[in-house]
Amino acid sequence: MNKSTILVIEDDRAIQNLIATTLEINDYAYQTASSYAEGIMKFTSHNPDVVILDLGLPDKDGIEVIKKVRTFSGVPIIVVSARTDNEDKINALDEGADDYLTKPFNTQELLARIRVALRHKSYNAEKDEQSSIFTNGNLKIDYANGCVYVDDEEIHLTAIEYKLLCLLSKNTGKVLTHNYIKKEIWLDDNGCDSQLSLRVFVTNLRKKLKSPDYIKTHIGIGYRMVKV
Ligand code: CA
Repeated sequence: MNKSTILVIEDDRAIQNLIATTLEINDYAYQTASSYAEGIMKFTSHNPDVVILDLGLPDKDGIEVIKKVRTFSGVPIIVVSARTDNEDKINALDEGADDYLTKPFNTQELLARIRVALRHKSYNAEKDEQSSIFTNGNLKIDYANGCVYVDDEEIHLTAIEYKLLCLLSKNTGKVLTHNYIKKEIWLDDNGCDSQLSLRVFVTNLRKKLKSPDYIKTHIGIGYRMVKV
């Protein structure tokens, strides 16, 4: 059997049970933990394929789990939080979480996010082997030569559009926050004026890619490249 193992770190019993039941019905193996300490312990003993993480834990903030895990693993982490404040999600993403769900969520949505995370994981493993060419639907990026093709036709991007596309494509499946993107693309904060110009670059990039589908907007948070 080759089941994926999901680690659920959540102290609210009702939600933990709901997630566990959903995973069980859908044929995933899972482990549960109710605190930071138990979560880290179970992580090291079970080496999960995906982590579902509540940010409000009794012993430490869930953010600490992300920080700790990221020191030794790139496993996909989906944050599940009651907090509606975007700030918390942005912090979690900036610390290395891949995705987020806001409570209350429906179980179909949770399963969809898990599938994306697992695809992202195998996709990254595959990508490591031949990392100089990226393909996604009709989009092809030749990183070594700095060329981008749509429907086998080369398209011309500005330097910033190309950097943005590379950043998004190298993180396919992961939500990148506005701050993270700005930090990666413009060397300092004075270089370009914020969210508005980033939005303009994304709009232009979508036009050149001939499809809005590659880059998904997360309002108030950031952008993500999705596998089409
Ligand atoms: Ca909690």
